Amino acid sequence: MKIEIKNLEKVFRTDSVLTVALNDVSLDIEDGSFVAIMGPSGCGKSTLLNILGLLDSPTKGSCRLDGVEVAHLKERQRTDYRRGRIGFIFQSFNLINELNVKENIMLPLGNLDLSRSEKERRVEEATKRMHISHRLRHYPLQLSGGQQQRVAIARAIVSNPGLILADEPTGNLDSSNGAEVMKILDELHRGGATIVMATHSLKDAAHADRIINLYDGQIVENLTDLMCCYRCLRH
Ligand code: ADP
Repeated sequence: MKIEIKNLEKVFRTDSVLTVALNDVSLDIEDGSFVAIMGPSGCGKSTLLNILGLLDSPTKGSCRLDGVEVAHLKERQRTDYRRGRIGFIFQSFNLINELNVKENIMLPLGNLDLSRSEKERRVEEATKRMHISHRLRHYPLQLSGGQQQRVAIARAIVSNPGLILADEPTGNLDSSNGAEVMKILDELHRGGATIVMATHSLKDAAHADRIINLYDGQIVENLTDLMCCYRCLRH
């Protein structure tokens, strides 16, 4: 999925406090690329991903996905656009504990115009790919963190989305499960998906073909400026 972001701004208002989470962010991402968004906690990574994933809308600016302006759609239109086109992977897995593995993975297929047998086929394919076919009747809390993240990835890919957004996908995993998740993201990338991943980890970011540095809601292009930002953070 091709992404074109122009002059994006996001301001949160809590009581009388205004927080500028994104400040004049412009960015183009080619279809099929794997981009890592890096930066310290609070710099706006999740906010950017949430806007790209149509979970939130910006205060100002433009966001075009495959040429379609989505920045200021109403909530219902955002949900409709998102369905089947965008898959999410979160640090905390975000599975529904009351639903079993199969029901969790089925969720994105809910309102898609597919036959029951096609939905079953897609779930089978995603669970095989994530090596969790033998866990379909388990509930999330009966699984390890690594297994829960594999269920979450199966849910993210079951509708064959063109865009996968991963927010600190290895943040709650040990190093071997983290490496496994990064291997899966590499495979999805090779399969043609566009991946945008927020991360603190340089090791994870090294899997991407492009790294974008965010600091205080802004993209920092120049390495010297970036070093200055990090020095300020230390003092
Ligand atoms: P990161 O993902 O890089 O840690 P976030 O995008 O979560 O950063 O947050 C960027 C800034 O916006 C932070 O200062 C955070 O406190 C603020 N923020 C994020 N979400 C909200 C919200 N819903 N309401 C108010 N402030 C928020």
